[in-house]
Amino acid sequence: MALKNEYLIGLMERVEKRNGNEPEFHQAVREVLESLEPVIEKRPDFVEKGVIESIVEPERIIKFRVPWIDDNGKVQVNRGFRVQFNSAIGPYKGGLRFHPSVNEGIIKFLGFEQIFKNSLTGLPIGGGKGGSDFDPKGKSDMEVMKFCQSFMTELSKYIGADTDVPAGDIGVGAREIGYLFGQYKRIRDEFTGVLTGKGLTYGGSLARKEATGYGLCYFTNEMLKDKGMSFEGKTVVVSGSGNVAIYATEKATQLGGKVVALSDSNGYIYDKNGIDLKAVKQIKEVERKRIKEYLNYHPEAEYHEGCSGIWTIKCDIALPCATQNEINEESAKALVANGVMLVAEGANMPSTPEAIATFQSNGVFFGPAKAANAGGVATSALEMSQNSMRYSWTFEEVDAKLHDIMKNIYKNASAAAKEYGYEDNLVYGANIAGFLKVAETMLAHGAC
Ligand code: NDP
Repeated sequence: MALKNEYLIGLMERVEKRNGNEPEFHQAVREVLESLEPVIEKRPDFVEKGVIESIVEPERIIKFRVPWIDDNGKVQVNRGFRVQFNSAIGPYKGGLRFHPSVNEGIIKFLGFEQIFKNSLTGLPIGGGKGGSDFDPKGKSDMEVMKFCQSFMTELSKYIGADTDVPAGDIGVGAREIGYLFGQYKRIRDEFTGVLTGKGLTYGGSLARKEATGYGLCYFTNEMLKDKGMSFEGKTVVVSGSGNVAIYATEKATQLGGKVVALSDSNGYIYDKNGIDLKAVKQIKEVERKRIKEYLNYHPEAEYHEGCSGIWTIKCDIALPCATQNEINEESAKALVANGVMLVAEGANMPSTPEAIATFQSNGVFFGPAKAANAGGVATSALEMSQNSMRYSWTFEEVDAKLHDIMKNIYKNASAAAKEYGYEDNLVYGANIAGFLKVAETMLAHGAC
């Protein structure tokens, strides 16, 4: 939907001009501003007091050089970023991404989305994001460690358990968090919950590893229940084969769905008998190899080069869990033609605006990332609580809290969509519900 309100059109133009050459950031801001049209009709004070102008501007951006020495003794130089976007409702919180595609615009789009997502969890966490254009793929353990130590040497000046608490994201898993935490502890001489996604022996939370994927399926289950359905007997396609994809596959299967496909950035596998997750965990979590290796375990399955073909597989439910803009209009049309009934986003912004419009105009129930994948950061916030108490909850306790949080996010996003006249439009509902809490708080703080 195009922007109609003159104030918002002007603001969008300013955002584009000020943040040139950052298309993903523009895309994320535009979607939120579109959702806010009905809100500012009811609440002109948000415009008068400059709240929306403030919310699209990061509080702080940190950008730094990350030199490290590779296994051949050669100095390599990467770029590091941390965008501290909004701390109205709590310390900045959001993951670190290590991937060659990372630049300031990507981190800003992720940090901006994180504000609303974190607000939706109902927990006291602000929005931030960070990362580097470093590619851990193909690097030795020693190289990854040296990079992480150099990255944290600089980042440690700007973060802390009560100011900014990073976590993992693409390319940053348990190994990287361990190296980053070790370096922070050494430099600052303090043992605090400055990172989440930590190992269980040094302050990590049970169920954090599973949280984003499990949370996505709990959210999807609420969507299905609302329409009188369940996962039972549904065919599911999941893209990616990293942390989110693996645990989405696990929970979707436990809830009665049959996951038939997974992918990585080289290609996708299709196993009509249902994915053997034990094999995938061995390939991806233990051996760090390509998804193609699945054929060594199941020669009867199919492997296809290229990622987008995964969306031509017939399914009832699609869960994109790889990366931004992985479903374009053409892929969305292919899913619709094959009868998909529900799409819920595990990755951040995996559907282009045209793809979302295609789903919504064809009656496909659509669950946006901000709401659907908020289980990861919610459980990170639960890790922070446990660290503050110096206490650990059981897996079942954390999982039960995660389940309740996802149910509430669905309830609140769905209610906000209805209240503002867009029933079942969870994009609007999630943006509005997430925005209102942050905006009211910014007003209470004096909106500057
Ligand atoms: P991982 O690094 O564990 O896995 C990422 C997966 O996506 C890999 O299979 C990777 O393949 C694939 N992938 C990455 N880039 C591309 C691409 N350009 N095209 C196709 N496939 C690609 O990351 P996560 O699982 O942690 O994150 C996945 C998504 O979920 C991201 O959008 C992230 O922001 C989001 N997210 C993650 C959370 C978390 O808790 N981890 C929380 C909320 C959101 P390959 O190995 O070939 O690169």
